[in-house]
Amino acid sequence: MDVGADLAERLAAVDEVERRALAAIAGARDMQELERVRVEQLGKKGAVSQLLRQMGSLPPDLRPAFGRRANEARRVVEEALERRRRELAAAEKQRRLEAETVDVTLPGRPVRLGRRHPLRRVELEIIEIFRGMGFTVAEGPEVEYDYYNFEALNIPPDHPARDMHDTFYLTDRILLRTHTSPVQVRYMRSKAPELPVRIIAPGRVYRRDDDATHSPMFHQVEGLLVDRGISFAHLKGTLAEFARRMFGERTRYRFRPSYFPFTEPSAEMDVSCPICDGDGCRTCGGTGWIEILGSGMVHPAVLREGGYDPEEVTGFAFGMGPERIAMIKYGIDDLRLFFQNDLRFLRQFA
Ligand SMILES: [Zn+2]
Repeated sequence: MDVGADLAERLAAVDEVERRALAAIAGARDMQELERVRVEQLGKKGAVSQLLRQMGSLPPDLRPAFGRRANEARRVVEEALERRRRELAAAEKQRRLEAETVDVTLPGRPVRLGRRHPLRRVELEIIEIFRGMGFTVAEGPEVEYDYYNFEALNIPPDHPARDMHDTFYLTDRILLRTHTSPVQVRYMRSKAPELPVRIIAPGRVYRRDDDATHSPMFHQVEGLLVDRGISFAHLKGTLAEFARRMFGERTRYRFRPSYFPFTEPSAEMDVSCPICDGDGCRTCGGTGWIEILGSGMVHPAVLREGGYDPEEVTGFAFGMGPERIAMIKYGIDDLRLFFQNDLRFLRQFA
């Protein structure tokens, strides 16, 4: 083979390598593919690199021309790679920008605000009304001594009133309080002989009941006012004002004689049914009246347990259930709805 023909053939082979390399570069669709092409062409064993390696095995007189062409081919391929790399980088940046574009005209995601449980709302309403009349909030423990829950409230161990309270006993002497009344004596003891005592005590209480109108855990708000010269008229005036503020100005009320061991005399208070305005409906059982609380003049024995002299001071006390008030106010007929935490129910109390 003569030298000229041999060179022409070798240069044509370089052309072919260069042509394939450029085609592969143009066809690379992303950076990963382009990197693969670079290794295939310019890596140690790459097609373009191989051209230059052949130099050593060429006849010396062919080397200059072949070398120039092979080096030129490598430069052309390198430049093409760099161009393609910039193109792909720009395209990727553009895609990312489009993907990350924020449409400021889209409506925001709604933030779902929590709201107060209907029982808590009613409890706070009760507290606010009595705060407006000068009462302050007092609290006591839910795990209570038998003494504060019963004995100090004039309910000795064999007293039949204990049957009214289906009690959860934890030990012989310790129980879950069955009412908020133990706060009466606890508070008086912390305060005596200061006057006046004027508190409301909201909180949870426990009894062994569970049906549509009873829950083993429910709430009470206790009220206590002790001072010199307190009479039943103060009790009536205070609770009548409460009823008007809770159920509306048109609300009528009445007191019925009742019995509680820790008050004497005792009375239950009814209000005119706020649903039917006294005409009679399902909520009030057709009577037009609804019982809302128990009350009475503090029993002398309870004042003594609290550290006050019943010859010098008198007082009144009352207790009511936020559940009952809420059921009347919102026309709810199943107590258990308050404790099932069904959001469809709870969301109605906005
Ligand atoms: Zn009614």
